[in-house]
Amino acid sequence: MIPLSVPHISGNEWKYVKECLDTAWVSTAGAYVGRFEDNLCEFTGAAHAVACVNGTAALHISLIISGVEAGDEVLVPTLTFIAPINAVRYLHAEPVFMDCDDYYNIDPAKTIEFIQKETVLRDGYSVNRQSGRRIKAIIPVHVFGNAAALEELIDVCRERNIRVIEDATESLGTVYTSGPNAGKHSGTIGDFGCFSFNGNKIITTGGGGMIVTDNAEFAEKARYLTTQAKDDAVRYVHDEVGYNFRLTNVQAAMGVAQMEKLPEYVDIKRRNFRRYREEIHHINGLELAAAPPYADANYWFYALQIDADNYGKDVEATMQHLSAQKIQTRPVWYLNHLQKPYAACQHYKIEKAVVLAGKTLNIPCSVNLTDQDIRTVVGALKA
Ligand SMILES: *Cc1c(COP(=O)(O)O)cnc(C)c1O
Repeated sequence: MIPLSVPHISGNEWKYVKECLDTAWVSTAGAYVGRFEDNLCEFTGAAHAVACVNGTAALHISLIISGVEAGDEVLVPTLTFIAPINAVRYLHAEPVFMDCDDYYNIDPAKTIEFIQKETVLRDGYSVNRQSGRRIKAIIPVHVFGNAAALEELIDVCRERNIRVIEDATESLGTVYTSGPNAGKHSGTIGDFGCFSFNGNKIITTGGGGMIVTDNAEFAEKARYLTTQAKDDAVRYVHDEVGYNFRLTNVQAAMGVAQMEKLPEYVDIKRRNFRRYREEIHHINGLELAAAPPYADANYWFYALQIDADNYGKDVEATMQHLSAQKIQTRPVWYLNHLQKPYAACQHYKIEKAVVLAGKTLNIPCSVNLTDQDIRTVVGALKA
């Protein structure tokens, strides 16, 4: 069986976790949590990092600090894993769904058009003409590790007092190479960047997340909210509703070990992408989707695009065919503006997301994928 995406644990994980166990520093206090945060700052160039129990919690807290409240709206892409949409709903706010561009990311042109044509600035907030609600934030997702085109979008959001929360849960290691953000890591451009260390991400702590920000006040607030909002930690006085969202030292210990390997993992992902792409290019009706030219992607997930007419099989049939050969693949997430809890929410000119979702299959991409595995997958695609 060749799995889609599994963790690779090959470094100091045992040593660091054992140290937590040996010293009984297993909970949310302990040196590894701070070390893991420092590692994220060093690696991404962000000024502050706050560790969380998972990426969804990181998004949830970032939305709270962005001022999102019940009845507000948040702009989101329809093509993404559902976690950022759910985080909006946790606050009883409403997602407004946007289309995607050629790289599976939120379409910047259509989103700007929506903001400029469908909203008006009133009392300092962008108000949706249709719903009358305030749009407080946007969550661009760097899908599959592809850097979202943020350059112009972010300027419009700044003008319109819309906070930008980057969902960088899939894109740790992705760096912009041109434009005003050249040299910057995904997650460090908006007001907040959220990372995930879930089992299928490029590095993992079993479960975990991180908020990065350059704003010291936001970081302090995130630290406060994720640790039960203690205003007096001795007498347990709480002036706000807090959350038990702090990462544990055991998980952070694993994170520190995984961070040591991250550059190597990105290299492997990139090399395997090239190997796949060269081979797949020769198969009629198949193409491995390119990453955007304005960034070095981390190549977290590989997106196989299937032209069913030329290839002779659609996504579903290809998935079944590979599954019969013990190769695990996965179609793109069911589009979120069609999901039951969100079907009544507003969506704006969604076209490309439908096309891409209809022809894309994610193929095995684990860091420990061997050359033989790649040959097996390609051979099965050819057969
Ligand atoms: C993985 C993922 C998340 C959630 O991260 P968890 O750590 O699993 O909570 C959020 N958004 C996207 C796009 C993801 O892929």
